[in-house]
Amino acid sequence: MSTRVTMVALLACLAAPLLAGENDCPVDTIDGRFYCEECDLFTSLDMTCKTCKTKNKLVIVCVRIGHTCEACKTWQLAKGDCPTCKKPLIEKEVITPVVYLCDACKLEYEFPGICDKCKADVRQTCRKSGTCPHTAR
Ligand SMILES: [Zn+2]
Ligand SMILES: [Zn+2]
Ligand SMILES: [Zn+2]
Ligand SMILES: [Zn+2]
Repeated sequence: MSTRVTMVALLACLAAPLLAGENDCPVDTIDGRFYCEECDLFTSLDMTCKTCKTKNKLVIVCVRIGHTCEACKTWQLAKGDCPTCKKPLIEKEVITPVVYLCDACKLEYEFPGICDKCKADVRQTCRKSGTCPHTAR
């Protein structure tokens, strides 16, 4: 199976409706990236991780832009100055895999469907949901 075919199949799965909570990431900017689970690193079109040499996995990711002060570790969605040190915040892209979560069992699945344990519908979410910039607007 070619990379392109895999991507189309994965993107087609994302049509599932969202039942997001108050602070949940809206998962509105998605993309396909190659991911090394071992190193938690995303790479471009390279099938082998440069660091650990394991095969990268093609995953659907949630891409969000936030603004951070690296010195104070502050994050916010809006541009501006750091509330603590008043230096201008730096724009940063934060990428994280999109997963399907059972809210009751806290189990994570790679694809949409029902939870193996409680048979409830799983919810599309991103791994960093609820942490800035992966928060609701
Ligand atoms: Zn690696
Ligand atoms: Zn600061
Ligand atoms: Zn469950
Ligand atoms: Zn997100």
